[in-house]
Amino acid sequence: MSRQTRAERMRLPLARDVLKAVAVDHDVCVRPFAIRRTDITTGETTVVDVPCGATVTAKCGPCADRARKLRMQQCREGWHLDTEPDLTADDPDQQQRQLMAERADLVHLRDELAGLGQDTATVDRLVAEVDDELAAAGVRGSLPDAEAKPRRKRSTKRRGDVADLPRRPVAATTVGRVFQAPDGARFRPSLFLTLTLDSYGRVRPDGTPVDPASYHYRRAARDAIHFPKLLDRFTQNLRRFVGWEVQHFTAVEAQRRLAMHAHLAIRGTLARAELRQVVAATYHQVWWPPCDTPAYALDRPPVWDAEREAYCDPDTNTLLPSWDEALDELADDPTATPVHVCRFGPVMDVKGVTAGGADASRHIGYLAKYFAIVLLHSGWHERIGVAAVGWSYRPGGGSCGAGVGAVRA
Ligand SMILES: [Zn+2]
Repeated sequence: MSRQTRAERMRLPLARDVLKAVAVDHDVCVRPFAIRRTDITTGETTVVDVPCGATVTAKCGPCADRARKLRMQQCREGWHLDTEPDLTADDPDQQQRQLMAERADLVHLRDELAGLGQDTATVDRLVAEVDDELAAAGVRGSLPDAEAKPRRKRSTKRRGDVADLPRRPVAATTVGRVFQAPDGARFRPSLFLTLTLDSYGRVRPDGTPVDPASYHYRRAARDAIHFPKLLDRFTQNLRRFVGWEVQHFTAVEAQRRLAMHAHLAIRGTLARAELRQVVAATYHQVWWPPCDTPAYALDRPPVWDAEREAYCDPDTNTLLPSWDEALDELADDPTATPVHVCRFGPVMDVKGVTAGGADASRHIGYLAKYFAIVLLHSGWHERIGVAAVGWSYRPGGGSCGAGVGAVRA
């Protein structure tokens, strides 16, 4: 081969890039995981490529595109579902039973060791390993850990400044009402709801504050951090208030001003006034120890005590409380107030959408555009389970929606 200049060599495509381009051409994953699979009857071992399942195009175009199409499909089929999905769990199989028996033996052993005052670290690790295997074998949920501490009791007192919502028993139905026109045509309308956080001060078109000095940065940051909790609380309140298991497909995105807002495709229809009531009555209280003023200056920080394995006050040498201890103290203090209260802003947008319409498609495209957070609630994915297989079986699972779909298929 004749000698090439460096410039000529640099122009030749890298093998890795060629491989990537071919993968994209064929619409397959550009960075699959290699997983070894052993047939437990024959002992034969093969290496299988499992697609990465990325949801971001920059990481893997084909996987992200597939994930987006799947989300659109899940959203489309779930939004206007007209029959209750079958959520009956399968009977546990032989492997699952065996693992569970193994776990029981280990837990028994650990309790005996603990009773004798011996170290249980090794057995604890084995229990955790079996738990992982149980999860891999398709068992949902977790078992109570003997070591687990009791849950800290938080104040459940309702805020005086928020209207109380009447509660109804929640019927086990997830499907919206059907309306019949005089000519016999049937409509099953659903909703597209957008919830937004409050204003923290005026912003310019690019989202930056007009007056940085008075802009509520702290409240904006805390609202953004705790937004998922607020959304959870909204769903909970909504179900208790309307009295049925309202389902939604939700995408959360940051607005230009970096405040979170959520788009919810809600199955079935609800009265606007009722929605407004639930939005107004929904809040999330953050019970943290006070964190507004620094307790130590940068030039005199707490010191690490290697012997006691904790930080100490640099002057008095007393141990600083751990996060858990600080929370316990807070829980015991009847005069404590939450460090932050999250609420939705006053602006709420609701649209009625009928199944199959152009409007529905447009909104679905909108919801599936965002990779940020896709929450998927029970039953949404039932009919698309099979579509999810083949790309989302991977360590750690994909977006929760895709993971659930694959597991149940
Ligand atoms: Zn991929």
